Amino acid sequence: TSVNINEMLDLILKRLKPIAEKQHVDLVLESFRPVTAEIDEVKLTLAITNLVENAIKYNKEDGWVHVSLNADYQYFYLKVEDSGIGIPEDSLEHIYERFYRVDKSHSREIGGTGLGLAITRNAILMHRGAIKVFSTEGEGTLFTVRIPLNYIA
Ligand code: ATP
Ligand code: MG
Repeated sequence: TSVNINEMLDLILKRLKPIAEKQHVDLVLESFRPVTAEIDEVKLTLAITNLVENAIKYNKEDGWVHVSLNADYQYFYLKVEDSGIGIPEDSLEHIYERFYRVDKSHSREIGGTGLGLAITRNAILMHRGAIKVFSTEGEGTLFTVRIPLNYIA
């Protein structure tokens, strides 16, 4: 079905706002254009929620999370960028595996099962989309997502 992606993101961020505030993380959404797309709203809502939730929980005191939405004639593009603890280079290839969590005392004390990103990636691939990660340990992480506007199951 046709989904208003701007509204979907508004809702996702609204729901995560209290968690961000509790961690003193500034959560900002920047929508560069209106986007509607043929997507499975339930699955992509979960996928994006996982990304933003990670960006909040693997962050630092007084950190920030920046979510942005853009589109061209074929795809919409999502960026989730954070000022958090980052992901070590040798962990990057494993983060989409089920139950994988970076083995750092730092992230160990943060709760989680290690399923979030596996679910996120599956949902994005199901839409014939793509996800990429860029990260620097101690500085932060950027996830980029690309989803076709007209996905046919
Ligand atoms: P769950 O999402 O199932 O509650 P989780 O957050 O540990 O648990 P994933 O979302 O799959 O699991 O993430 C896997 C691991 O990747 C995390 O445990 C964490 O070590 C690392 N990670 C994911 N996102 C980030 C991020 N934005 N910054 C730093 N590390 C991250
Ligand atoms: Mg997670």
